Amino acid sequence: MLAPMSTPTPTNPTTVLRSYVAGRFVTGSGPGTPLLNPATEEVLAHTSTQGIDFRAALAHARDVGGPALRALTFAERGEIVRGLSRLIHSHRDELIQLAIANGGNTRGDAKFDVDGASATLAAYAELGAQLGASRLLLDGGAVPIGRSARYVGQHILAPRRGVAVHINAFNFPAWGLAEKAAVALLAGMPVVSKPATATALVAARMTELFIESKLLPEGAFSFIAGSSGDLLEHLQGQDVLAFTGSSDTAATLRALRGVVHDSVRINVEADSLNSAVLGPDVEPGSPTWDLFVADVVREMTQKTGQKCTAIRRIFVPEALAETVLEALRERLGAVRVGNPALEEVNMGPLSTASQLAEVRSGIAKLRGEADVVLDEARAPVGVPAGKGFFQAPVLLKTARPQAVSAMHQHEVFGPVATVGIYDGRAAIAAELVARGGGSLVASCYADDRAFIEELVLGTAPYSGRLFLGSAKIAGQATPPGMVLPTLVHGGPGRAGGGEELGGPRGLSFYLQRTAVHGDKAILEGTLKGALIDGTIKPA
Ligand code: NAP
Repeated sequence: MLAPMSTPTPTNPTTVLRSYVAGRFVTGSGPGTPLLNPATEEVLAHTSTQGIDFRAALAHARDVGGPALRALTFAERGEIVRGLSRLIHSHRDELIQLAIANGGNTRGDAKFDVDGASATLAAYAELGAQLGASRLLLDGGAVPIGRSARYVGQHILAPRRGVAVHINAFNFPAWGLAEKAAVALLAGMPVVSKPATATALVAARMTELFIESKLLPEGAFSFIAGSSGDLLEHLQGQDVLAFTGSSDTAATLRALRGVVHDSVRINVEADSLNSAVLGPDVEPGSPTWDLFVADVVREMTQKTGQKCTAIRRIFVPEALAETVLEALRERLGAVRVGNPALEEVNMGPLSTASQLAEVRSGIAKLRGEADVVLDEARAPVGVPAGKGFFQAPVLLKTARPQAVSAMHQHEVFGPVATVGIYDGRAAIAAELVARGGGSLVASCYADDRAFIEELVLGTAPYSGRLFLGSAKIAGQATPPGMVLPTLVHGGPGRAGGGEELGGPRGLSFYLQRTAVHGDKAILEGTLKGALIDGTIKPA
């Protein structure tokens, strides 16, 4: 039985979180799946989507939300997106508290997620203002085709007529929802957003805020609090599916009937064995060195290592290896693990019991090929005895990174990384990075330009983003694990082959590129008005 509800998102164990579909809040039937506090194992709420009519939900988004969004200009859609950004910011503390309770986040982890959500929405609002009063975009300029200047071609980008289904991973419930929704809404496609079930509380509250604010046209945003049931079986040719999660689930989604037979567009953001490379020119204690050590420690422990962009492999030249290992052992050994609601705690638990089990089995795999530098049992601070899904930082090392496979192939989604010692040549470091089979980000810490150039050329084909950490930018560099709305997020191969964000680049997933060619005067007349201010020039 589906029941419309009007009370705000609870943290009451008996309550079932609300989905928002076909213009109303509903809850699924049955006992549902419990959402836990991963530090204490307390039940916070339940989710169920049983009985929800997903075919009708998609039809409502396509038929009601789509036309309403497409009637607006980029600037008008941008204003909506700006409103959503402000809404999240004005409920920041409430959302942070929910992330601490349901995500195992420290306050810093939760801020990273929630502030990332409002910042990404704000960046796309700004892009909307720049794109202005158009509803179509030009892709490049007019191309002469015939003998005279009269016959030309022009590529245009128009919003697809379907629905954008967004499926997110458990680790970034706020940012994951917002970064996908910002781009789709700005492009003019209605969104159906599904968070991972285990950490759905933050996204459920964001949805309530979105809907209650009435900022969005009816049908422009729907939300599924829990399992997606048969939703994806009803996708049609104009729909798109943006997925973030594991490669295994991605493989299932790539085989969907709609994807295989109706060319439903799919974007996949999946596993990634991100690397940090230390150049042989870097002196211990130099700004570049300090940046490297701080970045590695942060990327391993922020969100308890449950970041798709976290550093998993660290390549250091032989001459610097002992000093690096000592510095990392000391810093990681000082991390205080425990209940993230406590201020003195630096790292919370993993999000679920199954994540903990997977991380432990992953550590065992890595240990089969590498030596332990740090792997201590530590009693978590401030939790009932025996409760919570805790894993302290683990650091391993191998002197033969070319000869091992687990470190390059098995993503351990926790505070775990392996140091691989190499001979200091950029070509060798690049080859080691490439062994990850494609990643979201790789970072290079060096000031020697020849080393950097060789590493960039060798690693770019295997990386969605390359961060170059050097002395001159050490004071202002963003962390390599921070995904930026202006830069592309995604990576080749193992990382899913997807591409999100990157400023205007992100829009093209939701737009159909069409080549229009004919009489220049007719073309200009036909497209006039739609094209004002709306040029995306290829980078
Ligand atoms: P997951 O198990 O693949 O789940 C991801 C999402 O897919 C969840 O919303 C899940 O819903 C849903 N899902 C699972 N099976 C499905 C199916 N058959 N049909 C439709 N939806 C389905 O991954 P996860 O454990 O949440 O996330 C961890 C993984 O995500 C890691 O490997 C990490 O590298 C990757 N990740 C990548 C990025 C990136 O940007 N590249 C970012 C974050 C995480 P339920 O929760 O309801 O099962």
